[in-house]
Amino acid sequence: DKIPASDLPQPVKIQQVRYTKIFINNEWHTSASGRTFPTRNPATGDTICEVQEADKEDVDKAVAAAKAAMQLDSAWRKMEPPRRGRLLHKLADLVERDRKLLATLETLDTGKPFLQAFFTDLEGSIKTLHYYGGWADKIHGKSVPVDETYLCLTRHEPIGICGAIIPWNFPLLMLMWKLAPALSCGNTVVIKPAEQTPLTALHIGSLIKEAGFPPGVVNIIPGFGSTAGAAIASHEGIDKVAFTGSTEVGQLIKEAAAKSNLKRVTLELGGKNPCIVFADCDLQMAVEEIQKGAFYNQGQCCTAASRVFVQDRIYEEFVRRSIENAKKIVIGDPLDPQTTHGPQIDQQQFEKIIGLIESGKKEGAKLEYGGGAVGEKSLFIHPTIFSEVKDSMRIAKEEIFGPVLCIFSFKSKQEVIERANNSQYGLVSAVFTTSMDRALSVSGALETGTVWINCYNAMHVQTPFGGYKMSGNGRELGEYALAEYSEVKTVTFKMNDSM
Ligand code: ADP
Repeated sequence: DKIPASDLPQPVKIQQVRYTKIFINNEWHTSASGRTFPTRNPATGDTICEVQEADKEDVDKAVAAAKAAMQLDSAWRKMEPPRRGRLLHKLADLVERDRKLLATLETLDTGKPFLQAFFTDLEGSIKTLHYYGGWADKIHGKSVPVDETYLCLTRHEPIGICGAIIPWNFPLLMLMWKLAPALSCGNTVVIKPAEQTPLTALHIGSLIKEAGFPPGVVNIIPGFGSTAGAAIASHEGIDKVAFTGSTEVGQLIKEAAAKSNLKRVTLELGGKNPCIVFADCDLQMAVEEIQKGAFYNQGQCCTAASRVFVQDRIYEEFVRRSIENAKKIVIGDPLDPQTTHGPQIDQQQFEKIIGLIESGKKEGAKLEYGGGAVGEKSLFIHPTIFSEVKDSMRIAKEEIFGPVLCIFSFKSKQEVIERANNSQYGLVSAVFTTSMDRALSVSGALETGTVWINCYNAMHVQTPFGGYKMSGNGRELGEYALAEYSEVKTVTFKMNDSM
């Protein structure tokens, strides 16, 4: 809905970031090593502040706190489920209270446009907390008929201590996707935010304490992946790890889990997501939805619309309208409410994206729009459109994680399904058509965890999200996520007095 400009939320002025330490046992700690690391504003390159750098020793402390909070006689274990739910609702209300501050911190740390942080990341975070707050007292097992001599019950119990390793593209939202179901099911957690973006996670630490969660239930340890992250993945005292990030690191995490204590693992990894645009679709709507899908968050989404197959009859018109539509994008200061496109997260990602754009030019794709950096010495990249992309090109196969839209042409349904599925990834896909039959048959044939019909990035907290193939293991969100944070125990009673 259109909100008048004067009513739009404004970022808050932040003189000094308040929470920069390690959060364990509802207290703030300095790192065992004494080290700190800077977190930077990608829009300016400036250091926002120094943050305490957690490593293995700090992870050990956090796990000890989480373990103590999980003991059978602890306040958390004895807490009635409705009270657990109330704490989650309370946390949601505190996030709502601090919504502008959290959106501002998210914008400073990630470079994403402020209004996107406010309306997407914060909205999604609050909804996720309320949704799982509602589940807390509705999680129950079954009684299972076997034969007359036994009565069997299942109990859905918390798994125990859950590690969470969070990426930098949606730092707060990805944290909530893990924190909320974990707490709803009665677990305790040790969370590592990404080293690029620790600030909103640390603010949540202060709200956890304010909401009244018992000490040790939630622990937040800022640090690097190969040190603190690896310590979580291989920790003998952690019972489950949930990870969102790259497929390469996902493989490392599953390997570390297997080699240590076979902790449960859920992974939400990369994508190379196909969109299929049939000639009978609402063309303008398809152009706009797909472009949002490709460029949203500067293309730094595992769900990015990265392989767009357009039926030959409408191909040229689709390309033409895509270029027109891209001209509406406003590149600028992410704190300015007019801005719709900010910088990439860091130098490493920037260079990877520029390298892939160059490979597209070299391998013979046709550059239609953008195609490089904005100015010098900045992390901004122009939204880029390639047409005439061939399936064998690097830009057709590798996850770019940047604002690059690749357009392919196809002739028949059979052909396009085969090409769409010809990928190691299987996260999301989209189909644009006005034929109900075609939408149904194609959505059945696509090997992805989500299929969007005539829409894109239509995420809901009630519906499960996750990948087929190398896009991940398990599902987040919805009722399905509860299973990923529970153990099922069968309790069997012998009835010696049967009829
Ligand atoms: P991206 O490619 O999106 O930066 P990564 O997969 O590298 O994603 O990072 C996502 C998260 O995984 C971050 O919190 C990062 O610190 C963490 N991470 C990176 N390497 C490892 C590792 N070897 N073990 C555990 N966590 C890691």
